[in-house]
Amino acid sequence: MSSVPSLADYAEVVGRAEIEELRSIARHLEGKRIQHVNSTRTGGGVAEILNRRVPLERELGLQVEWDVVRGNGGFFEVTKSFHNALHGASVRFGPEDLEIYNDTIRRNLDVIRPDVDVVLIHDPQPSGLVRERSRNRAAWIWRCHIDLSQADVTAWGFLRSLVESFDAAVFHLPQYTKELMVPQYILPPAIDPLSPKNEEMSDAEAKSVVAELGLDPELPIVLQVSRFDYLKDPVGVIDAFEMALGWEPAQLVLAGGSADDDPEGAEVLARVQQRASEVPNVHVLNLPPDSHRQINALQRVARVVVQKSVREGFGLVVTEAMWKRKPVIGTSVGGIRQQILHGITGFLVYSTEGMAFRIRQLLCDPELSRHMGERARQHVRHNYLLPSSLKHWLLLYIAVARKARGMVRLDDPLNP
Ligand code: UDP
Repeated sequence: MSSVPSLADYAEVVGRAEIEELRSIARHLEGKRIQHVNSTRTGGGVAEILNRRVPLERELGLQVEWDVVRGNGGFFEVTKSFHNALHGASVRFGPEDLEIYNDTIRRNLDVIRPDVDVVLIHDPQPSGLVRERSRNRAAWIWRCHIDLSQADVTAWGFLRSLVESFDAAVFHLPQYTKELMVPQYILPPAIDPLSPKNEEMSDAEAKSVVAELGLDPELPIVLQVSRFDYLKDPVGVIDAFEMALGWEPAQLVLAGGSADDDPEGAEVLARVQQRASEVPNVHVLNLPPDSHRQINALQRVARVVVQKSVREGFGLVVTEAMWKRKPVIGTSVGGIRQQILHGITGFLVYSTEGMAFRIRQLLCDPELSRHMGERARQHVRHNYLLPSSLKHWLLLYIAVARKARGMVRLDDPLNP
């Protein structure tokens, strides 16, 4: 699709009724001002979601702003360690780290807009802004994109004191929720089927894009797309591929990039490149953040897609590959466990050996791969596409703006 898609274009994917329903719910929110705040415009799943969600919310009649907190290297080092600790790593936080965090938040107070109805804070990085929520009269929502189920107690203790100042917290999965004094909602994220990352592409075009990346599109590809992050275990993917080698000819492609808010990327990339040099047919692609077409093509040409995360908030890359009819082999963690129906749309694995075994199995059995891929596509279509996710968000805005009276009514105006 050459131009930016509008709502009407989604009818072809999800049906007209779904789009009509979306419009009719949105009428209850007409003119409402929504502000999204996160910590980067490029790189990672949150930026990926907001890039598509913001224009569609605007098209539905909401006044939507997307702001980003500004921070220096020190701030992002602290928030990355904090992120790792919330994922369960044992990381020590000293008073000096808290001071860096609090100082950056104080410098970002101008991000808070005085005249909005809903402030939606994504992830922990900007959540300290809530301490100054009296600067506006908005409903404040915290959107958590990460798996908190094994969070380090100290890190969660700090975050919890912030989260309880919001009006509501929204999690991807039930197992990520916490004992909280504020209402909690469960909403998985979604992918945009019409974005450059996911839009349809012919086989010929996909192969030619893959060839432009310096790869042989005819040699079966095992693919992992991820930021270069230890939590995605890219080195473990190379280990699994090495174990699977020798059965069917294949190449491994690790495609990734960095995100502005992730200072560890360069170190991980260097480690991956070093390990890749020891195993034949492994390609490491360090892609710029706007490589959506390239990732789309890689996911289409790949024979097998893997995601060997140690922790995973949701794993949009899994959703993207499933939408492209790929069987995905993923570790049984976080949102990956939710998305992959084991033995039906792909395989859940628990070890490097397990992943190697399933890579071999799918490479040797293209018919099984095809069947699983078809079912994967249907699973995403019914559960993880943008239009239905937007519908749930609109309902949530209404519920929160009405101070969650226990049920969402669409038959009375928002401001009676
Ligand atoms: N992504 C990308 N370029 C890269 C690596 C990832 O565009 O080099 C995209 C990927 O396609 C997906 C998102 O970034 O849409 C990653 O989201 P996910 O939930 O898988 O992981 P996160 O990075 O948020 O931990």
